[in-house]
Amino acid sequence: MNIKINENFKNIKESYLFSDIAKKVKAYQEAHKDAKVIRLGIGDVTLPLPKIVSDAMVKAAHEMSVKETFRGYPPEYGYDFLKDAVSDYYKRNGIEVLSGDIFISDGAKSDLGNIVDILGDNDIYIPDPVYPVYVDSNLMSGRKIHLINGCKENNFLPMPDGLDCNGGVIYLCSPNNPTGALYNFEELTAWVNFALKTGSLIIYDSAYEAFINGDYPRSIYAIEGAKECAIEINSLSKVAGFTGTRCGWTVVPKSLMVGDVSLNKLWSRRQATKFNGVSYPVQRAAEAALSVEGMAECKKNIEYYMENAKMLSELFKEKNIYFTGGINSPYIWLKCPNNMSSWEFFDYLLEKANIVGTPGAGFGAAGEGYFRITSFGTHEATKEAVERLRKLL
Ligand code: PLP
Repeated sequence: MNIKINENFKNIKESYLFSDIAKKVKAYQEAHKDAKVIRLGIGDVTLPLPKIVSDAMVKAAHEMSVKETFRGYPPEYGYDFLKDAVSDYYKRNGIEVLSGDIFISDGAKSDLGNIVDILGDNDIYIPDPVYPVYVDSNLMSGRKIHLINGCKENNFLPMPDGLDCNGGVIYLCSPNNPTGALYNFEELTAWVNFALKTGSLIIYDSAYEAFINGDYPRSIYAIEGAKECAIEINSLSKVAGFTGTRCGWTVVPKSLMVGDVSLNKLWSRRQATKFNGVSYPVQRAAEAALSVEGMAECKKNIEYYMENAKMLSELFKEKNIYFTGGINSPYIWLKCPNNMSSWEFFDYLLEKANIVGTPGAGFGAAGEGYFRITSFGTHEATKEAVERLRKLL
């Protein structure tokens, strides 16, 4: 064809992480037919939607089949009933987010990828290791990326001290995927103050905030000044089991201004141009999930996962293996024993204990030598895995 392509795509590394894992597991399983392989690499939820949520979805689907209650295109930014439910959810967590600053989406990944549309050629600051979408979406737009190193010394919570930045876009994810590490009030305040001082924008991914149990910020807007420097992106995927149902939201406060240009207006324009909203039944399901009763059901599922996380983290404590996460996060990020590389440890666990996890190197160079284990399995499988690990490590 005689067209030009976006050459920036050539800078994106192919991601073979999960296909390489699948290939290795398949080959192992074929060679060891009787092996009972336990998968602790899952980043997807496994428990079904709470009934209150699916009931709301079914009711809404029926409304769509009746002339009087049928609805066509939804509003691009979400129905008011759902924006109000999101605002109320924040309020119950002690945070004020106005309904007019909320944009309903089909999940956090889309918005994290699309937000670059409204931003120019900025320097981009991204912690390493982290959820790969931030890096790849900025590479696609040809942006200059500075990785901020996460390591054992900073407990995988990189801070702005010493960062050479004269204004740019900073991505933060807390609790983090894959490390499970999360910023406390003081640390997040330092980031907000840094962004305000340097005139930077923070893009804050709070996809795992519902797993926080202790006294940690569940939203960047729990920090003073954040409405002048931060966009927050959240999702119902992990809190309410919406990975297959698809719904999330982005908060772009009206107080976010670049000169006399409002980022809220730019995002409104972007969404109205390129997005036609989330389906009515899904928005009703999301409203039900965010209600007081719905959230109580969602919390039961989270508690189930967190019991798995507890079993695993207690084992690593017992074995004196350094790890982060597992307390306010479904992810446990551990140092591979005996200085094994991430993939060496992957092979070792698969062969010696028939357990599958995710090599840390797949989440960025700073992940080498580390390994992610998740709590999204069943109690039975996790318990069995803990026993096998207790014998092996
Ligand atoms: N942000 C982080 C940190 C994630 O780990 C994930 C999914 O695993 C997402 C966002 C994507 O969420 P969604 O399912 O809403 O697209």
